[in-house]
Amino acid sequence: MNKTTIGLQEISLAAAHMVHTVDTKCYRLHGHNWIVNVELIGDIADDGMIVDYGLIKEYLDMFDHKVWFIEGYTDDVKYEAYREMCVQYGDAMQIAVPVITSEHMANFFAKEIKEKFGLKGVQVTVFEGLRSYATGVCYDEDI
Ligand SMILES: [Zn+2]
Repeated sequence: MNKTTIGLQEISLAAAHMVHTVDTKCYRLHGHNWIVNVELIGDIADDGMIVDYGLIKEYLDMFDHKVWFIEGYTDDVKYEAYREMCVQYGDAMQIAVPVITSEHMANFFAKEIKEKFGLKGVQVTVFEGLRSYATGVCYDEDI
């Protein structure tokens, strides 16, 4: 049985975040040029593609030039103040993760892309800087 993998590399997302779980400079609102690499496994459709690369890029672009917040997290006054301001001006992206870190974002993107595009497997690597990255994988059990 053949398995075909396709990928997109070096999708750049400029976004700010706060890591509310630490008492370091990472608790302050700050930004990164996050670099995202995506590998996809799926069936090749009649059009010859597993999925149109442009659709994956379009999905990821929704996160570009935004401030990333944890969806539903309201336990921190400073965090909530930033969120309110960013929501008001349309700059907020609410993301269903426990903490906005490269680890959780890699897992989030892998799961979301797999479900949204009906793929068999997705691996996403998120670089928070030039040397620091996390990889999240989401695969069907039978591949
Ligand atoms: Zn950071």
